[in-house]
Amino acid sequence: MLTTQQIIDKTNKYGAHNYHPKDVVIVKAEGAEVYDPEGRKYYDMLSAYSAHNFGHRHPEIVAAAKDQLDKVTLTSRAFHNAILGDFYEALCHTTGKNMVLPMNTGAEAVETALKTARRWGAEVKGVENGKQEIIVCENNFHGRTITIISFSNDPLAKDNYGPYTPGFKMIPYGDAAALEAAITENTVAFLAEPIQGEAGIIVPPAGYLQKVREICTKHNILFMADEVQTGFARTGDMFAVQHESVEPDVFILGKALGGGVMPLSAVAANDDILGVYTPGSHGSTFGGNPLACACGIKALEILERDNYPQQAREKGEYFMAGLRKIKNPEILEVRGRGLLIGMEFTGPAFDYVKACIHEGVLCKETHDHTIRFAPPIPVTYDQMDDALERINKAIGR
Ligand SMILES: *Cc1c(COP(=O)(O)O)cnc(C)c1O
Repeated sequence: MLTTQQIIDKTNKYGAHNYHPKDVVIVKAEGAEVYDPEGRKYYDMLSAYSAHNFGHRHPEIVAAAKDQLDKVTLTSRAFHNAILGDFYEALCHTTGKNMVLPMNTGAEAVETALKTARRWGAEVKGVENGKQEIIVCENNFHGRTITIISFSNDPLAKDNYGPYTPGFKMIPYGDAAALEAAITENTVAFLAEPIQGEAGIIVPPAGYLQKVREICTKHNILFMADEVQTGFARTGDMFAVQHESVEPDVFILGKALGGGVMPLSAVAANDDILGVYTPGSHGSTFGGNPLACACGIKALEILERDNYPQQAREKGEYFMAGLRKIKNPEILEVRGRGLLIGMEFTGPAFDYVKACIHEGVLCKETHDHTIRFAPPIPVTYDQMDDALERINKAIGR
């Protein structure tokens, strides 16, 4: 096998440099542990940005995928497949909604939600087509398509990709009054993350989501919760909005939905909203493919059967308490919910991330000053203890 350095050199030589990965090559993985070509073990504390809620290669999800590989992997939506309906049913059960539209990536699910809101606005709410407005938040992260980066305020994501898609209005995150003030007769939806992930694990003020819910109901606009990163037990509830017992009109889901094996995303809502679609009005060749659905069905089953929300809540409290014991005057705050945890520093976190990786803990800074710690939910207490010791060695002063 090539060495770590040879692999990195080849990757950098031929690939576009739209990422700057840490100098670690992962060649084997199981649960919360991954290995490099030299056989070094690391704990995965990033979990592919929460796509690995189930841990790497969860045996039951891998078995479900293998089983489906032997039957049929792709039919396109020109024909039916035997398990798409089962997937819809399972996701409706988990979300409490009665209709699903499947896609592949999180960005596609966000795009689907935006299209849904615009169409619903024109056909149900009665906004003139072309006038629909959608309200979004500062420092949002919803993906990488042209439309989505059009309403980003991160220059790294946005610069030189113009012309940008119109129809979006940006307000501060966590500010319910700003939402109400931004609404006009043409507003069709409010799109937000219940906890901002990429912005640095930003938990909104208590009561914010409830106020958002009330305002959206009062003004007849859709509350669209982007739970691509926070969903499926990551934050200690099945969905992060449930922390405030709030039901959004539209769930935007992805990442962990495919069990860490296949890309699988979806929009879930009731038929008074998703019912706006007619044949030909939206679609995806791979959306709802049987292989991804087989992974998704098994993932949804495991989430409930193994009490993943409770696991994430309890382990999250334990891990966060451990992180808070680490002494370093440059640590500003340790915050988060469940197993979505941010450690913010007074300055750049880059060197601390490097030190963690050196000690065998994979993590990454988000927006320079904050390290995100988000281990897979099946991580054991022994693994957390070992990881905390290593993190302390790397960061403690
Ligand atoms: C990762 C993410 C997305 C985009 O998902 P992709 O699968 O990378 O397209 C959208 N929204 C949120 C909140 C995310 O964290």
